[in-house]
Amino acid sequence: MKRPDFNSSHDQQLYSGLIRLHILHHACQEPIFGLGMIEELRRHGYKLSPGTLYPLLHSMEAKSLLRSSESTQQGRIRRVYRATASGRKALATAKLRVRELFGELFEEEQHARPRKR
Ligand SMILES: [Zn+2]
Repeated sequence: MKRPDFNSSHDQQLYSGLIRLHILHHACQEPIFGLGMIEELRRHGYKLSPGTLYPLLHSMEAKSLLRSSESTQQGRIRRVYRATASGRKALATAKLRVRELFGELFEEEQHARPRKR
């Protein structure tokens, strides 16, 4: 199933929290870098330009959710971002909230679905 594309600024406002959580999720798993994250988000249907993503990473770093450092990979210097301890804590809390929202969003569908048996 193809996901609807994310592009308008209206969508951007609506989904900005989801995008931040997505970034935080990946930064908890491994060091991330801007272009890699743009590709990852594109895979999920979110089309972000570097001009949108980098300020987002910077603001997450300013809020101490991420910490960046320079890393040399294949002879290239790249700024990589990792989740901080407070970033991990924030993600753990956010997961509980997402689960709750998820339950509510899909509750009606579950009730509407005809019961088996
Ligand atoms: Zn992902």
